[in-house]
Amino acid sequence: MKIVRKNNPILVIHGGAWAMPDDAVAAHENGIRNALAAGWAILSHGGTAVDAIQASIASMEDDEIFDAGRGSFLTRDGRVQLDALMMSGRDLRAGGVASVERIRNPIHAARLVMDRSPHVYFTGSGAESFAAEHGMQLVDNEELIIPRERERLAEFHRDEAAGYPDLTFAGIALALTGPVANLSTRRGPEDRSGSRQLPEAPVPQPPANPISESTRPIAATFAAAPHIEEDHLAPDPVLMQTAVDGAVEEGLPAELRPLDPTLHSHDTVGAIALDTRGNLAAGTSTGGTLSKSPGRVGDSSLIGCGCYADNEAAAASLTGWGEPIMKLVLGKWAVDRVRSGASPQQAASDAIAYLQARLGGRGGIILLGPDGRLGIAHNTPRMAWGLATDEGQQIGTVRHP
Ligand code: ASP
Repeated sequence: MKIVRKNNPILVIHGGAWAMPDDAVAAHENGIRNALAAGWAILSHGGTAVDAIQASIASMEDDEIFDAGRGSFLTRDGRVQLDALMMSGRDLRAGGVASVERIRNPIHAARLVMDRSPHVYFTGSGAESFAAEHGMQLVDNEELIIPRERERLAEFHRDEAAGYPDLTFAGIALALTGPVANLSTRRGPEDRSGSRQLPEAPVPQPPANPISESTRPIAATFAAAPHIEEDHLAPDPVLMQTAVDGAVEEGLPAELRPLDPTLHSHDTVGAIALDTRGNLAAGTSTGGTLSKSPGRVGDSSLIGCGCYADNEAAAASLTGWGEPIMKLVLGKWAVDRVRSGASPQQAASDAIAYLQARLGGRGGIILLGPDGRLGIAHNTPRMAWGLATDEGQQIGTVRHP
């Protein structure tokens, strides 16, 4: 059958938004390159957006550099628990799985839920049984755990016991340049239980920091969203807590806590695509956050939070600190702004600005409209991203609007 080429296909992917250090860039770009190749091989030959995003995401799940599939972060008690969602923009069909421990490629299980079930979402052992009944091989949880992650968890628990803050998303550069840097509250994590004061912070100096390029995206993001007023910053309790954490970062003596964000990477993966028939699709897959409580589910696999697709508006995949993203239902929020006439880039920038202004959240988004316009934004120092079109491919770890 001859394929009617209604659209030029487009594939956009991400590999997590966080304070990625320089020495992690090459491995992430390599993973992004492979994932683009897997999805583009399908999309460029007239394949569907759903098949393309599934292939890209499976490629990143198979790559241990990402927080998805084997090699994901461990729960507090040392297990891998995976979440994934995919959505078809043509008919709004969606399929998701959460807290699965015995599935190597949860995006394949999400596809099965979408295609073969009247339901949208399965969790835990129910999701695993459903996948097994539909031909997927279940693995032992041990097979998904790699030594690097055991070490990372042990390190995290040591740091936590010592009261060190988690610099995962912000890095020091963002704490000094974002709006939270102006707030004066100075308490550390210990103060939440009232046990110990951290030292008074010195006047912040510009950081001698390999990721100082990160200051540009956030400034540009806020410039792009003038309707979000500074007034919104002060009273929100979650934002205040972020200010607290930012102040701790500023005040922490260097000898006490060298900047080492490699300890707490964030490499959730996602893909969005527009196929030659004009259909959109989106998918997101994650191992969640480091040392999460067993059973915790983040934004990634929740419809409208970390993922959404509607041919009449846009497709979106998000990454970042899941709880604030969930509270804002940010994927649907961004898609609806495109539906209301905003360009995908404007909507992406606005979504990330809203995330930060309303809840102090950190993260990134990729957004694609049915007309092929796209948006990429993040307020973390880096976000691994890739783009494939008929014109060629682009890969990066910082994206300026
Ligand atoms: N959003 C994910 C979660 O909270 C984490 C990430 O994107 O890195 O589970």
